[in-house]
Amino acid sequence: MVPILDLKVQYQALRAEVDAAIHGVLERAEFILGPEVKEFERRCGSLCACERGVGVASGTDAIRLALAALEIGPGDEVITSPFTFIGTASPISRSGATPVFVDIDPRTFNLDAALLPQALSPRTRAIIAVHLYGQPADMMPILDFARQHKLFVIEDAAQALGAVYRDQPVGSLGDMGCLSFFPTKNLGCYGDGGMIVTRNAALAEKVDVLRRQGSRQKYLADRVGYNSRLDTLQAAILNVKIKYLAAWNERRRQIAHRYGELLSGTAVVLPTEAPGCRHVFHQFTLRTPRRDALAAHLHAKGIGTMIYYPVPLHRQKVYEPLGYGPDSLPNSEKVAAEVLSLPMYPELTDVQISHVALTIKEFFS
Ligand SMILES: *Cc1c(COP(=O)(O)O)cnc(C)c1O
Repeated sequence: MVPILDLKVQYQALRAEVDAAIHGVLERAEFILGPEVKEFERRCGSLCACERGVGVASGTDAIRLALAALEIGPGDEVITSPFTFIGTASPISRSGATPVFVDIDPRTFNLDAALLPQALSPRTRAIIAVHLYGQPADMMPILDFARQHKLFVIEDAAQALGAVYRDQPVGSLGDMGCLSFFPTKNLGCYGDGGMIVTRNAALAEKVDVLRRQGSRQKYLADRVGYNSRLDTLQAAILNVKIKYLAAWNERRRQIAHRYGELLSGTAVVLPTEAPGCRHVFHQFTLRTPRRDALAAHLHAKGIGTMIYYPVPLHRQKVYEPLGYGPDSLPNSEKVAAEVLSLPMYPELTDVQISHVALTIKEFFS
């Protein structure tokens, strides 16, 4: 049996450290914005080469608060990828702005910057670039376009903490980077958690106030805010786990390399690392027109797989009113019908990797 993910083996390896960190918080009883949150913000910010990290309640809230800090709202448009998790786009809608979807490059699964001009309108205020599966989006042309048209750039780095684009950590390339610590992410806590990282102190300050009910001082609200803070308990757990992130990401890259070697010559499209990028393989996602049959074959042999994501956002019910037709974003649709993610987590053994690869080869032979 090879599950797609195994969070229990990781906890077993870290049990003593994690349990001690949790108990420390329980003893001190500073549950909201305790010292562990500050420490984690410092560590995670510096990992992203950002002066500031502001811990919030989830990755979705990180995007929500980033948009709020940039004063984006009704009447505005925000360009993003349709081939992502709903949590990228729902904060745009929640802000009152309209998401404008731009098709992806099927080789990287990320926004195709060459298509940005078609999506631009006088209402465009920002671009949310998603680093899907742990692969950085092609930020240079995105940042150039944004500069030219005075747009903000938010990075959805929920799947890509530790990834690097041309020597710069993701999260530090745009105006604000949004992270998620959902349990399954490369750095996951034991519940919900998120963070905004930024090099812009004024924006960090704004997010800090927004997450605390819009109040700089307790019980004195300056603006309508949110209740969205990273829990001290989660921060304590993350302070333990962040020490291992570099090694975990390195192991993910090794696993991807191994899958690549074992599956080369098989009738599947393998994921690639874009030039100048360090991919951190949140997912190892291949493509085949025989996706559903392959998934069924693997499941019958006890191997877990997942489809991230079966329906691109512009084709989901929630965004029907935006009126995107069936062939409006063809690469996203094609890819959604063909992608399959294989087991990927740092504790995966070489024997398990070989078993998965052999079972795939067996299917195609
Ligand atoms: C996980 C994820 C989010 C949302 O993060 P949550 O912490 O679950 O709210 C947003 N975008 C992407 C690409 C994600 O993978």
